[in-house]
Amino acid sequence: MNKELLWGIDLGGTKIECAVLDKQNPSQVVVRERIDTESAKGYDHIIAQIKVLVDRVTGIIGEKPKAIGFATPGVLNPLTNTMKNCNTVCLNGQALATDLANTLGCEVKLANDANCFALAETLLGAVQDVNPNAEVAFGVIMGTGVGGGLVVHGKIINGLHGIGGEWGHNILEDDGDACYCGKSGCVETVISGPALEKYYEKHSGKKMKLKEILQAAKDHSDADAEATVERMVDYFGRAISTLINVLDPDVIVIGGGVGNVDLLYSEGYERIKKYIFNSREVHTPVVKPKLGDSAGVFGAAMLYS
Ligand SMILES: [Zn+2]
Repeated sequence: MNKELLWGIDLGGTKIECAVLDKQNPSQVVVRERIDTESAKGYDHIIAQIKVLVDRVTGIIGEKPKAIGFATPGVLNPLTNTMKNCNTVCLNGQALATDLANTLGCEVKLANDANCFALAETLLGAVQDVNPNAEVAFGVIMGTGVGGGLVVHGKIINGLHGIGGEWGHNILEDDGDACYCGKSGCVETVISGPALEKYYEKHSGKKMKLKEILQAAKDHSDADAEATVERMVDYFGRAISTLINVLDPDVIVIGGGVGNVDLLYSEGYERIKKYIFNSREVHTPVVKPKLGDSAGVFGAAMLYS
């Protein structure tokens, strides 16, 4: 193949996906393939599955990769060169970058999946639509967990500890619920989907999905649902305003299941004004992502763009 290619792999808990993009025109997908992670079979098996996938794609394209970018859960600790904070727990403590480079016989670069989401949406997605000249973009994931990624001049900011953009574990509520990270009251324990559902259940004694809670609040049929939605909107405003106060990004992209909630872009946006250090004025475009499930694998490929 004459084209210069960008290889990306999204290492998910259930699927490993590979995409190869045309470097000159990265929106162009040359090949896209996936395989089951089978993470229950352990670390060595995951490495073997990645090798199977890379060999398969190599066969389709007819050339071996020189370098592959990887989107991973958790992060590579730059101080120890091992993985941490992965929900696919068998990755934690492993020298994943070294092991992949040795197994695949090519250069590898790893980035957290939220960072890859931010990079892909910046270079190929929503940020391009709103402000293609954006110098600073922040990608937020609000779903089962809350994470984020910071992209400056088209590059991810990983940071000294590899935790650049990990906004989901800022403390938002002093006496808040315990977080898996060992602290309490993190953004994730307040405005993630499960956290909001838990809050509703605690106050109403009933289990409901966030979607149903939102509907009940809209119908004004349930005071606890309205309180849950008010909590979501207000803490969203507080959490995003801290991002803007520190980074003042040109664009913020909000992904994840909770990121789909339209109210965040109306009432939530208004609430940012209440907490921001700018006389209640906000011009930051806060937008939904464009690339859907593809953001992780595209962002991985763009690590070498
Ligand atoms: Zn936390």
